[in-house]
Amino acid sequence: MSRTDEMKKIRDEILILKKSPLYEYRTSNGYFPVIGEGNHNAKIIFIGEAPGRNEAKTGKPFCGTAGKVLDTLLSHVGIERKDIYITNIVKDRPPENRDPSAKEIEIYGPFLDRQIEIIQPKVIATLGRYALGYIMNKFDMDLELEPIGKAHGKSYKSMASYGPIDIVALYHPCVAVYNPNNIGKLKEDFLILKNYI
Ligand code: URA
Repeated sequence: MSRTDEMKKIRDEILILKKSPLYEYRTSNGYFPVIGEGNHNAKIIFIGEAPGRNEAKTGKPFCGTAGKVLDTLLSHVGIERKDIYITNIVKDRPPENRDPSAKEIEIYGPFLDRQIEIIQPKVIATLGRYALGYIMNKFDMDLELEPIGKAHGKSYKSMASYGPIDIVALYHPCVAVYNPNNIGKLKEDFLILKNYI
């Protein structure tokens, strides 16, 4: 099966994921699941938390205010969206943009795991503490897991089923939505990605 077909299979499974606590909220609001977007042969995958309202309305990741910040950060380091893959741990919007629950992460995590296996990225860039926690745990790096305030801007070496990977810990772009003064710090952290392009 091609990478695109495997991604479509994931989408089809999530569309009918009735066991998800977010399924009813999605369907009753006419929202879309947000599977991910970008290059299926990307060297770098970006992982956010969960879709917001704009994302659930369009089915596209990071297309709202946090997405604008992400675009600024990507262009700061010369990365184009068409060259990377962007997704989230949780594929459906939690009500009122609340944090994803442990149950939701447990339900949607295996889809993210499969996406990583499909794309086989060399670099996994996590946006925010949830993505960092999930990825460090997945790759047996719990002992090296630090709070996001310490981890941001650092990279961690690990091993995936398909070869060595670097996990890059980044703040979630929404920290510059809440406080625009944070953009400088985020831009500085993103410079680490220049080592990989
Ligand atoms: N925040 C996220 O974590 N993901 C999105 O897709 C949008 C906002």
